[in-house]
Amino acid sequence: MKYLYPPPRLTAPVSLQGMLRDDVLARAGHSYGKSYADVVRAVARHFPHPPDLVAYPSTESELVSVLDWCASSNIAIVPYGGGTSVVGGVETDIGEGYRGCVTIDLSYLDKVVEVDTTSLSALIQAGATGPAIDAQLSKYGLTLRHYPQSFEFSTLGGWIATRAAGHYATVYTHIDEMVESLRVISPSGIVETRRLPASGAGPSPDRFFIGSEGTLGIITEAWMRVQRKPTYRVSRGVFFDNFNEGVECVKELAQSGLYPTNCRLLDPGEALLSGSGDGMKAVLILGFESADHRVEAVMSRGMEICAAHGGSLTESVGSRNGVSVTEISSSADVDSRSVSKWKDSFIRAPYLRDELVLMGIIVETFETAVTWDHFDELDEAVIKAVRGAFAYATGSKGWITRRFTHIYPDGPAVYYTVVAPGRAGAELEQWRTIKQAASEAVLANFGTITHHHAVGRDHRRWYELERPYLFAEILAAAKKVLDPGWVMNPGVLIEQPKNYGALSIVEH
Ligand SMILES: Cc1cc2nc3c(=O)[nH]c(=O)nc-3n(C[C@H](O)[C@H](O)[C@H](O)COP(=O)(O)OP(=O)(O)OC[C@H]3O[C@@H](n4cnc5c(N)ncnc54)[C@H](O)[C@@H]3O)c2cc1C
Repeated sequence: MKYLYPPPRLTAPVSLQGMLRDDVLARAGHSYGKSYADVVRAVARHFPHPPDLVAYPSTESELVSVLDWCASSNIAIVPYGGGTSVVGGVETDIGEGYRGCVTIDLSYLDKVVEVDTTSLSALIQAGATGPAIDAQLSKYGLTLRHYPQSFEFSTLGGWIATRAAGHYATVYTHIDEMVESLRVISPSGIVETRRLPASGAGPSPDRFFIGSEGTLGIITEAWMRVQRKPTYRVSRGVFFDNFNEGVECVKELAQSGLYPTNCRLLDPGEALLSGSGDGMKAVLILGFESADHRVEAVMSRGMEICAAHGGSLTESVGSRNGVSVTEISSSADVDSRSVSKWKDSFIRAPYLRDELVLMGIIVETFETAVTWDHFDELDEAVIKAVRGAFAYATGSKGWITRRFTHIYPDGPAVYYTVVAPGRAGAELEQWRTIKQAASEAVLANFGTITHHHAVGRDHRRWYELERPYLFAEILAAAKKVLDPGWVMNPGVLIEQPKNYGALSIVEH
């Protein structure tokens, strides 16, 4: 029989076989994440490096057994949550020098184990997806309140490993802020941090693992700060004649101390794409919510700031037959039409993306954050570079739009969407040219290579330029302690240094 995929190179010990699969569905399904390049390669049935085996541990001790077997047998390990990585984080092309590759899929570790209603925190297993977490917490009237666009499929462990950001614009939106403590299984042993509301005791061990992208060990569970479900909400859509007016307004909002839950500024093209505008004006989606108090007063102040910058409401008020916000029951959701349109489009976008790929259209998003003083030059440079790459790689004008997804007192997180016609068979090359142009412009103009999509394999070369040189050495030294055989997710985040074997770290 001719294999569509290279045959598995590994045979697992009998004791582990019950949790391992080597069928085509498991192997093909765990070869890639969900980036544009991943979808193109999967559709082309290009699977040169599938994992040899996929492990599905349902307890931590099963996970330890499979991890020990891999680490002691020179087998690369790829931790896998929901597989929604868009940066090559779960790709199993691990390079030479390994006997094979095992992907460890955490989907059976999906429980909320304990809830502390006094401290408002919950112990949650790493493989739990957004809906599974919300369903289990809602029995207590609580929520993690973390809503990345990939909420439906991504997992707690994936969010922590990649420093994910939910869709709230300010305060408690990065997963970093919600981790109270975590537990990590590394090839050298278990690391469990202490549950604390805050601590000044040295560099934070939690923060050290948050964002480690599976290179230091596997996060099995974490105590997470949870919240009471918000009951008071108000959202409004505001028009600006141009994006720049909106930018000035959002800067003031970000520095006002109002901390809106939503503060998405869409440029006119983005507003048109999402159905919340007509393509002539920029749209700001502004929202406030609370589990404790009415939010109309803060919205009123927010509206004053918008008005001072030339903003006008997309509709007079709310979705409820024009009744003014203050007359509406304080627990009501008040959305204008453009807000509802934006929400619909936000939820549907991931599904639409795959259809566009099948239609031969290059569709990619990339995101960054930058301080306000550098925003204008970064934005101009990115748009110019991407338009140049469109012309060079696709011979078309393409389409680039942007929005602010998150705002901070010192700068915005900017999210660009690019769309261009692909040439059959050349899409990946075209995509690389566009991605490279954008990434170089971001780095040259003081942005970060990623605000929330992580580093993975795809962003590594730019991450290497961004991080301090000595920090790379520190990471490698930490890896030497936790993963002396360099089996944890090779190729992701950090390249194995040439002097790795010589690093003078005590062997375990
Ligand atoms: C349509 C779409 C929308 C998205 N929207 C957002 C968004 O709004 N915000 C955002 O932040 N990201 C977003 N992403 C990116 C992605 O969803 C995030 O990076 C997410 O955190 C990945 O979670 P996951 O469970 O799918 O992890 P995976 O994709 O399975 O893994 C991601 C990385 O984490 C590692 N990893 C996974 N689980 C563990 C674990 N338990 N221990 C150690 N390492 C682990 C993997 O090895 C890999 O390197 C989006 C992706 C898509 C496809």
